[in-house]
Amino acid sequence: MVLKFKKTRDLLLILIKTLRLLWRTSPPKLILIIIIDTLSGAIIPIGLWVWKEFIDAVTNILIKDGSIKDSLIYLWLALHFVLILLNSITLTLSNYIQNIYSSMLNKVISKNILEKVSLLDLKDFDNANIYNQIQKSNDESLTRSISLLRTLVGFIKNLTSFVGIVGILLYFNTGIVLLCVLSALPMFYISLKILNKWFEVFNMRFENNRFVRHLKTLAITNQNIKELKIYNANSFLLKTIMNILDDYLKEDKKIRRRFLIETSIVEIIDKGIVYFIKILVVLISVKSKLSIGSLTMYLTSVDNLKDSISNLLSLVSTAYEDCLYVQNIFVLLDLPVQNQNDKPDFPSDFHCIQFRNVSFIYPGTDQYVLKNLNLSLYSPQSYVVVGQNGSGKTTLIKLLLNLYQPTEGEILVDGVNINAFNQSTLFANISAVFQDFIKYPFDVKTNIGLGDLDHLSDLDQIKTAAEQSGASQFITKLPSGYDTKLQKEWSGSVDLSLGQWQKLAITRALMKPAPILVLDEPTASLDAIAEYEIYQNFRGMREDRLCIMVSHRFVNTLFADSIIVLQAGELVEMGSHRDLMIRNGIYANLYKLQAESYEKVPS
Ligand code: ADP
Repeated sequence: MVLKFKKTRDLLLILIKTLRLLWRTSPPKLILIIIIDTLSGAIIPIGLWVWKEFIDAVTNILIKDGSIKDSLIYLWLALHFVLILLNSITLTLSNYIQNIYSSMLNKVISKNILEKVSLLDLKDFDNANIYNQIQKSNDESLTRSISLLRTLVGFIKNLTSFVGIVGILLYFNTGIVLLCVLSALPMFYISLKILNKWFEVFNMRFENNRFVRHLKTLAITNQNIKELKIYNANSFLLKTIMNILDDYLKEDKKIRRRFLIETSIVEIIDKGIVYFIKILVVLISVKSKLSIGSLTMYLTSVDNLKDSISNLLSLVSTAYEDCLYVQNIFVLLDLPVQNQNDKPDFPSDFHCIQFRNVSFIYPGTDQYVLKNLNLSLYSPQSYVVVGQNGSGKTTLIKLLLNLYQPTEGEILVDGVNINAFNQSTLFANISAVFQDFIKYPFDVKTNIGLGDLDHLSDLDQIKTAAEQSGASQFITKLPSGYDTKLQKEWSGSVDLSLGQWQKLAITRALMKPAPILVLDEPTASLDAIAEYEIYQNFRGMREDRLCIMVSHRFVNTLFADSIIVLQAGELVEMGSHRDLMIRNGIYANLYKLQAESYEKVPS
């Protein structure tokens, strides 16, 4: 059988890491669980022995016609009752602590994963492998680590029982113990084979499953419904999903049928061996003239030993299976991230950001998106980047924000490579509005306040920003003003038009008094008048900072000190509107083309 772990060492490593994670979650609770379950495991062999003494006491009365009053029968029965009681108490207690522990583990793992994800670079999210890894960690690993905790608990309990029962049976006959152990191995082998197969299937289907989930979400998301209905696209989505699920079903049936035959054969052989062992126990007991109590104890011990062996082996295989899934968490947690702590802070009072011979290819592709870019951005100045779709405008912004690093060349901040600065301090100096801004499912004031976490609840600052962007006009008309909850899919919430959402995103950017302001098509969903108002308002905001704006509407270029014209990833023109119009090149042509259409816009 091909094990999915290259070496047993890998498996042990995952196991150790998981145990460490379990330990770190709450050491006192883990110790308590271990003590309780060791006790619970010991109850089984002790119970066997007490029951033997009870049967023997009863037999004594029956055979020797003794008095039931003088007998120890009540004592053994009482002791057995106490053990049964203790067993229930330990089980309930262990379950209670395990449940609390699972919730704590859930918290620890969610925190670890979210913290790690926040440290990953944007390029990591572009990488389908890493993206799958993040999703896998999110999907299965949490339930699996909780399962590992339960497996560990079960293992401790069964191991204690196993040691106790082996002690009893070794006293009887070593061969019987060996036979019991050996007879469990074929089932163990088959279980491992089944687990490996399902894990292989899980991995093979992972991206497809993610795709199915994505299609389902697409089909039930509020804003998609109208388009889906018009094109009847739902039927196509349904067919695509059903085709994938049909393939799975066929494959599942094939795998399950194969394993059903193998498991049934091993099961029959196993049962046969148990009864063969029982015959041996009876023969040896009779030959050695053992008491009825002893015979009962040994016969029950055989059953209990078989149970604890198969429990132990199935726990080992469950632990193995859990480790296969849990390893996804560790793969994610071990992904390398740059240590930013020893880097100096980004200088808020910088004068110039310079692109020097910058070229860029997206990871995993081979096309240059930016080619040999040379330009300087000064603070405080405002720039507008224009160019046709796909000319590299957004990519230029991503590089400026250090979300990606140039493939060739470098970006210098007052002569120092931008990578030399602590990235989080760079982000702290940037305020931005992206095309695909976030619509938070919170109330209006939180949607704005998130622009400056330190002033999340500062209603005065929030209102000032909303006045500046013009968003206050529609906010005051909402049912609960700034307290109105947003996004219709949540109870008691209302939705906004795309343009209103965009105004909120712009207001969010205004909350943060950062020295760099980035606007990537921030007004794409606004009408011409609203857009004009916004740009008028931006005038005030731009005065003391570097403002760089991507726009496909050339009229916005009038508000900028300088215009950067990109064509197929190359800088083709740069200068003020006046200069570029006099030059009468690409910019002037495009501007005139749009200006003609703007003249047709009713004012
Ligand atoms: P613009 O903003 O001018 O429309 P972009 O900078 O968004 O252009 O895109 C430039 C080119 O880079 C396009 O050809 C686009 O397909 C490609 N591109 C953008 N993002 C990615 C990405 N994450 N991975 C690979 N290629 C990308």
